[in-house]
Amino acid sequence: MPGGRAGPGAVTVRPQAMNAELTADERTRILAKTARFNPPPATLPDGRRDLVGLDRGELAAELVALGEKPFRAKQLWHWIYHQGVTDFARMNSIAAPLRARLAESFVIGRPEVATEQTSQDETRKWLFRFRDGQPVETVYIPDPELDRGAVCLSTQVGCTLSCRFCHTGTQNLVRNLGAAEILGQFMAARDSYGEWPSPSDDKPRLLSTIVVMGMGEPLYNYENTAKALRIIMDHEGIGLSRRRITLSTSGVVPLMDRCGTELGVNLAVSLHAVTDELRDEIVPLNRKYPIAELLAACRRYPGASNARRITFEYVMLRGVNDTEAEARELVRLLDGLPAKVNLIPFNPWPGAPYRTSTHEQTAKFAAILNAAGYSSPIRRPRGRDILAACGQLKTDAERPRAADQKAAL
Ligand code: SAH
Ligand code: SF4
Repeated sequence: MPGGRAGPGAVTVRPQAMNAELTADERTRILAKTARFNPPPATLPDGRRDLVGLDRGELAAELVALGEKPFRAKQLWHWIYHQGVTDFARMNSIAAPLRARLAESFVIGRPEVATEQTSQDETRKWLFRFRDGQPVETVYIPDPELDRGAVCLSTQVGCTLSCRFCHTGTQNLVRNLGAAEILGQFMAARDSYGEWPSPSDDKPRLLSTIVVMGMGEPLYNYENTAKALRIIMDHEGIGLSRRRITLSTSGVVPLMDRCGTELGVNLAVSLHAVTDELRDEIVPLNRKYPIAELLAACRRYPGASNARRITFEYVMLRGVNDTEAEARELVRLLDGLPAKVNLIPFNPWPGAPYRTSTHEQTAKFAAILNAAGYSSPIRRPRGRDILAACGQLKTDAERPRAADQKAAL
């Protein structure tokens, strides 16, 4: 991989393959290695635990452990995810003595807001810091005309995958985010806009869609991402439907099937090149899952239809992947797929080795796709002045050295 980085995240997410192919010793060794990338436990120094990120079953189990009836979990769920309350004292449908006991054992946490910046175009970016001090960036991109917008969530601190045009890709993987941390970004963004309680299905929402397109590769942190999204989709809580959620992957083929079957969210695929030769170079994961395998996984993606098309993301790199011949080849590759193409002007970052394609070239590329029947909007860069646009997110986070890690335990 470019930069000589190994991809430890790569082995964390192929449990089926691991079970089928590995010996018990190998499995133990790999799990020990990847455990280094696990999120820290959701416990405060004073022993209280965070309830955010627990699913309904886990929440009920906590209440039973306190000697309470499991149905109380439904009430708590409502307060945490529908009302957005973080203070037990405000949960007035729960008797005061139980509220006090809950407050002794638990918290309803949020990531700490380290910085919040709002761009000239109203895009907002937060640097959130988690309990172990690790940071990620989250972005809200409002619709310029309507009262709605997309929250772009991060799933890892850093990324293993080193795509050549991506700022996050220049940063090593520090660790995976836990479900609470992925979900917590959305809840904290809602706090920032005061959008609680969760609006019902038929009401407009300011934070109306989620794109899992921030830092990291969500399918290399599948379990935590899936758990967070399931909680977000729960009708008695935040209640955002799967149709309003889009997960973007650089092409982790074995997990795409699970994502479609288990979550049913919309899929976006970071294609960016039409030959394996070029894609091997700019999206190095292609060496593992080449274009033909990736497109086969798209063809069988559950739930994809003309009404719910797969989005192919294509970053326009001047003189690299932007010729008309490449546009025609893209049309050929997508033949028969319910697809749309998002043409993304390359967003520069300090030291980036590329320039974005000219407007004329991007327009010619788009015209070929449009003529073939593929909707192919040219994405307007948002929040560039605060480095909040696609692929510009990066934090200074580093993996703690092994010695520091031990000291911290
Ligand atoms: N890891 C996932 C999701 C995060 S990246 C993935 O790769 O799909 C989100 C999107 O931003 C991807 O399509 C990615 O290719 C794109 N991107 C990365 N760097 C970019 C840049 N500098 N300019 C424009 N888009 C970029
Ligand atoms: Fe990782 Fe996506 Fe950036 Fe590639 S584009 S380095 S997969 S975050």
